[in-house]
Amino acid sequence: MKHDAIIVGGGFAGLAAATYLARARRSVCVIDTGQPRNRFATASHGFLGFDGSRPQAILARARDQLSAYPGVRMIDAEAVAARSSEDGFSVSLSSGEEISARKAVLAFGLRDMLEPIPGLGERWGRTVLHCPYCHGFEFADRRLGVLYRTPMSAHQARLIAEWGPTTLYLNGAGLDPESAATLAEQGVEVEPGKVRRLVGEHEALSAIELEDGRTSPVEALYVAPQSCLSSPIAEQLGVVIDEGLMGPVIRTDADKMTNVPGLYAAGDIARAPHSVSWAVADGVTAGTSAHRALVFG
Ligand SMILES: Cc1cc2nc3c(=O)[nH]c(=O)nc-3n(C[C@H](O)[C@H](O)[C@H](O)COP(=O)(O)OP(=O)(O)OC[C@H]3O[C@@H](n4cnc5c(N)ncnc54)[C@H](O)[C@@H]3O)c2cc1C
Repeated sequence: MKHDAIIVGGGFAGLAAATYLARARRSVCVIDTGQPRNRFATASHGFLGFDGSRPQAILARARDQLSAYPGVRMIDAEAVAARSSEDGFSVSLSSGEEISARKAVLAFGLRDMLEPIPGLGERWGRTVLHCPYCHGFEFADRRLGVLYRTPMSAHQARLIAEWGPTTLYLNGAGLDPESAATLAEQGVEVEPGKVRRLVGEHEALSAIELEDGRTSPVEALYVAPQSCLSSPIAEQLGVVIDEGLMGPVIRTDADKMTNVPGLYAAGDIARAPHSVSWAVADGVTAGTSAHRALVFG
C-alpha cells in the first residue's frame, strides 16, 4: 500500500506533522524508535500547557490522540534506508519491510555527542544541562558552571549568569582578553584548570574536580555539545545539509521543504535553536505543506 505521507521519526516534530496530515484525512505512516532527544530529562519545560511534564508522557499522549484518526499507521521500528522514486519515496525498515508514500517528512532528531569527562554523561538532562530556558529556573541562584567548548562558551556563560553566580570552566582552553574583560565586568568567574571529573551524590552535582586536585563547588553545569543527525537517511536522499554552530542543519524553505521536491524536514534536524515548541511548530508547517502539495501537485 502506498501512503500519502511517511514520517521518519515520531517525536515532537514528527507527531505534529502526522496529526495535521491525519486531520486532513490523509493516510500517514509514522516510523519511530522512541528515543526523543530530551528523554534524559525528568521534566520538559516551556511547552505551553505541558510545563513540567515528563517528555515521554507528552509524546505518549500525542501518540494516543494521533492513533485514533483513521488512516494512521504507527510502526515501532528503525528506518534504515530511503530512496526517492518517480512518484514519491520508499523507506526500508530494520524488519525488512518497505514503506512507500507520495510525500515524506524527515523528523528523526539529533544525537548529542557529550564530552568524555567522567561523571558528565550520567548527569545529562539532570544537573548537566544544555539550555537555561528549559532548565535554568529550577537551578536559579545556585552555583552554576559553563564548560568551555568553543569561543561561544564565553557568550553562553554571560547568559547563564542571568540565573545565578556563574563560573566558566576553561578546561585548559585559552580566553581572549576582550571576553575575559566582559566576563569580569559581569561577575562571571573563570577557572582555567583542566577538568578531571564531576562529583556529587547520584545525579546531583556538588563540585568539579580539577586535574591539579582542587575542587570547585557547582550545582548545575551547562554544556553545549556538538550534535549529529540521528540517521543517514537525509544524506541518502540527497538533501542539502549546512554546518551550524552546534551541528548539522538540513536546509529547508519557509514550507519546511528540502531541496528534494516532496521531501520535508522538521524539528531539531532542520533548525537552530531547538525546543519542543519550535519542533512542534515546524512539524505543523511540514505537515500542512505536504498536504497542500498532495492537493495542488
Ligand atoms: C537533555 C535535554 C533536555 C531538553 N529539555 C527541553 C525542555 O525542557 N524543553 C524544551 O522545549 N526542549 C527541551 N529539549 C530540546 C528538545 O528535546 C528538542 O528540541 C526536541 O526533542 C526536538 O524534537 P524533534 O521531534 O525534532 O526530535 P526528537 O524529539 O529527538 O524525536 C526524534 C524521534 O525520531 C526517532 N528516530 C531517530 N532515528 C530514527 C530512525 N532512523 N527511524 C525511526 N525513528 C527514528 C527517535 O527515536 C525520536 O523518537 C531538551 C533537549 C535535551 C538534550
